[in-house]
Amino acid sequence: MTLFTKPSQKFSSGNQTWLLRILILLFTLGSCYSALANGERNYATIRANHSKKRVAAKTYKHSTRLKARSVAHKAAKTKAVKAERKENTTSSMAFLGAGNARVAVRDQHLRGAVYYLASGHGGPDPGAIGHYGNYALAEDEYAYDVTIRLARALMEHGATVYMIVRDPNDGIRNEKVLKIDHDEVAYPNQRIPLNHTMRLRQCTDAVNKLHRKHKEAYQRMVTIHVDSRSEGQTIDVFFYHHEQSKVGQRLAKHIHKSFKSGYKRSQPTRNYSGTVTDRTSLYVVRNSHPPTVFIELGNIRNEKDQRRFLLADNRQALANWICTGLQTDYRKQ
Ligand SMILES: [Zn+2]
Repeated sequence: MTLFTKPSQKFSSGNQTWLLRILILLFTLGSCYSALANGERNYATIRANHSKKRVAAKTYKHSTRLKARSVAHKAAKTKAVKAERKENTTSSMAFLGAGNARVAVRDQHLRGAVYYLASGHGGPDPGAIGHYGNYALAEDEYAYDVTIRLARALMEHGATVYMIVRDPNDGIRNEKVLKIDHDEVAYPNQRIPLNHTMRLRQCTDAVNKLHRKHKEAYQRMVTIHVDSRSEGQTIDVFFYHHEQSKVGQRLAKHIHKSFKSGYKRSQPTRNYSGTVTDRTSLYVVRNSHPPTVFIELGNIRNEKDQRRFLLADNRQALANWICTGLQTDYRKQ
């Protein structure tokens, strides 16, 4: 028993020692592997983190560079736009009146085009006089307001504009009844004579002198009146040109077409019967050197016609339609 037990105990005790040794070995190996694995993992993490950091730093650097570039680009762009605006904003347009003196140029569709705008009459001659309640309506004041609105519209498209008749203190006015005055001057700053022929010659002389100065440019003369002959019935908008001027005729036709489509849009039930005809007998049509269109916007004495002129919005619409026609003519020259 003892023998059996002893060896068995011996074996057992020896076995225990071996087992302990193996366990210690396994544990050591395990921790070594684990440490190695951890170390490797740590190394991998460090490497990954480092590379992440590197990428992040690179990205940051890149994005900063991009951001800086974009900011610089934006700043340059803003500067350029500002400079362009500054260049395009006409500053000497005080005659447009308070709030309109600076014209913001919207595009350059009419760049290179030169316009001579002459509203009918002015100075000591008010033109036709209409009556509206207790008020007197002067042709020259209404023709002037449409003309100055046209000047602004043309300048908004980059055109060069000469106001041949100019009022030193009346800009664009929004009132229904426009105050009558007699202080208009002819370009550049001449007193307007009362004599009919002298007044018209003063106008065409000024235009022809400027026409020589701009000899290479596209130039057009537009004169606007509000005293159509046919009093009594509803009077439409008529366009006259020189009989021998094909260019003048084409100009008149383009504006006429713009009025037809303008009326179709704004008053679809209205029958627009305005026409384009030659009327070389008109002094300004006969004597102006640039191709000329003479526009009769209606008759200020006609009660029905007065509606076309009393509202500022209507006067603006007339100016816009003329401007659209002029743009078409410039585009298709
Ligand atoms: Zn007139």
